[in-house]
Amino acid sequence: MQSNIILIDMDNTIADFDGEVVKRFTLRHPGQRALTTGQETRTNWGIAKDVGGKHHDEIAEIYGTPGFTEALPAIPGAIAALKEMLAEGYDVRLCTSPLMRAPHGAGEKIVWAAKMLGQEWMRRIVISSDKTIVRGAVLVDDKIDVTGTQQPEWEHLVFSRPYHAHHADSLSGRHILRSWADWRSVFASIGVPIPAVPSAALQRDAFPAAVEVSVSDARRRGASEEQLGRPKRVRR
Ligand SMILES: [Mg+2]
Repeated sequence: MQSNIILIDMDNTIADFDGEVVKRFTLRHPGQRALTTGQETRTNWGIAKDVGGKHHDEIAEIYGTPGFTEALPAIPGAIAALKEMLAEGYDVRLCTSPLMRAPHGAGEKIVWAAKMLGQEWMRRIVISSDKTIVRGAVLVDDKIDVTGTQQPEWEHLVFSRPYHAHHADSLSGRHILRSWADWRSVFASIGVPIPAVPSAALQRDAFPAAVEVSVSDARRRGASEEQLGRPKRVRR
C-alpha cells in the first residue's frame, strides 16, 4: 500500500441517507413502524427493497425528490474525521455513484460537500458508477460488495450500518470501520501508511474557514486585493 489517497463513499457512509428517507416516509405516514433506521426493519443495502410492495416506488420517489440529497444530515463524526485525515496528509476524495433514478442528485452532492466540508472539497469529488477504476489506498464504503470492471487497487474498509446485522457471513474476515472516531486505529490495523509532512494545500482544504478568516483579517489590516492574490474589481 503506497498511495495516500483515501476514497470515501457518501450515502450512508458520511451522509445519513437512511435517516432522511425514514424521516420523510414517516411524515407521509405518521406513526409508521414498518421502516426505521434500525436493524429490525433495515435488512438490505437499498432501502426501497426493505419496504417492498406498494411503498417501494414511494421510497424511490422520496430520495428522487430534488433537494433530498442536499438536505442529508452528516453521519456523526464523519466531517471531523475527513478534515483530520486531510490535515494529517492523506489525500481524501469523496467517491460516489450517481443514483440513476435521480441524476440531479450528483450536482446536489457537490453542493452538500461544499456546505458540510467547505468549498474546496467540491474539487475532491469523484463521481463514478464503477469505483474499481478509481485509484486509492482505501475505500471506505458501507456497501458490502463493491464490484466493477477492474481489480481494485484499494483495500475496502466497510463502514458499519444496521442492515449489516443480516449479512454476518459476508462480513466475516472483512475490515470494518464501526465509528468515524476509530479511523486512526483501523487505518493502522490494515497498514495504511502514515503520510509524511502534510502539504500546505491539503491543510488549506481541510480548514478552509480558517483561511477565509485570515484573508479577511489581512484585508482589515489594509492589504490590497493584489497582495491577497485576488483580482481587482473593475467598475463598469
Ligand atoms: Mg453508500
